[in-house]
Amino acid sequence: MQNIEKDLKALLKLQEVDKQIEAILHLRGALPQEIQKLEHDIVALTSQTTTYTEGIAEAEQTIASLRLQIKELESDIQRYEEQQLQIRNSREYDAITKELELHQLDIQLAEKKIKTNYARIEKLQQDVLTVQAKIDNASATLKIKKDDLDTIITDSQTEQEALIEKRKKYQAQITKPLLQQYENIRSHMPNKLGVVKVRDGACEGCFTMIPPYMQADIQDKKEIVCCEHCGRIFGDVINVTILEPEEEVEEE
Ligand SMILES: [Zn+2]
Repeated sequence: MQNIEKDLKALLKLQEVDKQIEAILHLRGALPQEIQKLEHDIVALTSQTTTYTEGIAEAEQTIASLRLQIKELESDIQRYEEQQLQIRNSREYDAITKELELHQLDIQLAEKKIKTNYARIEKLQQDVLTVQAKIDNASATLKIKKDDLDTIITDSQTEQEALIEKRKKYQAQITKPLLQQYENIRSHMPNKLGVVKVRDGACEGCFTMIPPYMQADIQDKKEIVCCEHCGRIFGDVINVTILEPEEEVEEE
């Protein structure tokens, strides 16, 4: 058997294995990407929760310091009231009364700020709950999708491993440059086909008609011929109309 002929035969077998591997990967569908997106979402939501929790802690701290401020203002007021009892002239009395009023206003202002901060805490707590619900939801979906993917992977694992072994066997039978060419073409093709046949005069990959002299070259298998239109390697020529049996490309 000619080297090229052997090469092409092994290449066609390799592609059959690759098709089966693709089919297994196809079963996983969009699950791997969906899982990745959910994981990303959960990280983002968790960081949002942290921001809210920090906001709550900050508001609590503000409230604590405002309460302290009120306590100090109250003790000042008490002191002023005691002083007022010992006042002898009205000018001093008025001055202290003014101080008392200012202190009362400060207390009112601090109380107002406390109220605002409590409202802020309440809002942030609500936000935390909302985000937490989203996290719970995403986590539940993530678990389901992960389980689904695990099941698919487990179910197809033995098959996939066997195919990978087969792939190695065929790979070893193909000369390196041709194998490289096949891998290159495959990686650019949406249908992942790197090697095709000429079927009823047309390229199986792009359906361009192939001139007879070229078909003869392909059939001769003395050199590697590629489709001038799509670049795929031609593995063989099949003419279904004259009922030429398609070559068996399964096991050797
Ligand atoms: Zn083509």
